[in-house]
Amino acid sequence: MKKIPFVTKEQVESIAAQYPTPFYLYDEAGIRRNAEAVREAFAWNKGFREFFAVKATPNPYLMDILKEYDCGFDCSSETELLLSDAVGADGAHIMFSSNDTPAQEYALAAELGATINLDDITHIPFLEEILGGKLPETMSCRFNPGGIFQMSNGIMDNPGDSKYGFTREQLFEGFRILKEKGVKRFGIHAFLASNTVTNEYYPTLAGQLFALAVELQKETGAQIAFINLSGGVGIPYTPDAEPNDIRVIGEGVRRKFEEILVPAGMGDVAIYTEMGRFMMGPYGALVTKAIHEKHIYKEYIGVDACAANLMRPAMYGAYHHITVLGKENAPCDHKYDVTGSLCENNDKFAVDRMLPEIEKGDYLFIHDAGAHGFAMGYNYNGRLHSAELLMKEDGSVQQIRRAETPRDYFATFDETPYYDRIDFEKVNC
Ligand SMILES: *Cc1c(COP(=O)(O)O)cnc(C)c1O
Repeated sequence: MKKIPFVTKEQVESIAAQYPTPFYLYDEAGIRRNAEAVREAFAWNKGFREFFAVKATPNPYLMDILKEYDCGFDCSSETELLLSDAVGADGAHIMFSSNDTPAQEYALAAELGATINLDDITHIPFLEEILGGKLPETMSCRFNPGGIFQMSNGIMDNPGDSKYGFTREQLFEGFRILKEKGVKRFGIHAFLASNTVTNEYYPTLAGQLFALAVELQKETGAQIAFINLSGGVGIPYTPDAEPNDIRVIGEGVRRKFEEILVPAGMGDVAIYTEMGRFMMGPYGALVTKAIHEKHIYKEYIGVDACAANLMRPAMYGAYHHITVLGKENAPCDHKYDVTGSLCENNDKFAVDRMLPEIEKGDYLFIHDAGAHGFAMGYNYNGRLHSAELLMKEDGSVQQIRRAETPRDYFATFDETPYYDRIDFEKVNC
């Protein structure tokens, strides 16, 4: 499918006059359309809830939009919990799916009334001690079936090799222990494949988890209240990939539900999801300006963003489509490496990419950066985080996070004598 930016060159020029590049730009209309489609796709399930994976795009303005669709928030750290609390999520709208969890984070999750999804059987006594012996009435456990998950195509495709979750045996044992300790309502969670660009992932996973739920209920007597399909629903990063159809996915899960849970008398089980990428990925872009061209053994275009702003290409070799704004229909007859300024040779947004001829001053729209984009930013080479901007449904633009300044970068030295010696005025801040 042809990849079309949600802004024009003229719009970006006017935005850039106020907010210098690079910046992240999010498309409110797209976020809303998609959130509505997700809600409709699972409307057949009475207790359905999407818990947006906060780590994908931890911005309260965007979380507030999702809240209008009754989304909850999936957290795995203290700051993600604080953010969810700050946007007014109550306990019923917070899932705490962490691993290797520090004690104080469990304590905070419990204080907020979040549903705690345990990553390991040893966390049962660990949590019990933190909470003074009294576990919450609702608890969830993360399942890892081991082996290979058939439809996998990405980073977490090999459950037998992944650090997450309980083994099958531990799950049965864990449910028995939790039940003895007074837990009344149980959830099962699994995340077995990442960025799946197929409508089959959730239905396949659901089939396995539903069958497991029936067995668990039978053998342990635990009341299964929800089944959490977690994240992993992908987006088409490349123009030739076929996008997932969330309605087909929802219908596929419904069929498994009717086939497995309903006959077992478990038709009241709620379905939860924890999508990050699917909720935000396509609706955010990194907008950057070409500032250099370099002709050596290869042709390079240097832009004003770098891997510290968007790490996925450098880290995973991930493909992000690039549109040169204003040249949407020009022939892609130039082969470029598009690079950032980090002193690391993997700082390339594209390698050997066929693009229209790029001139200095052109704006590049780096697609599908709305999830795991800004959030994975870092400060290597003293590079600063960019601003995040929201393009509203009426076309106006709101800054939803300002760009970092040298003051922010040096803030953690503020108790040292060096802080006062930094001449911030030299850089106008
Ligand atoms: C990262 C993560 C998600 C979201 O994954 P996506 O691939 O963005 O959908 C959901 N749940 C957990 C526990 C995660 O770690």
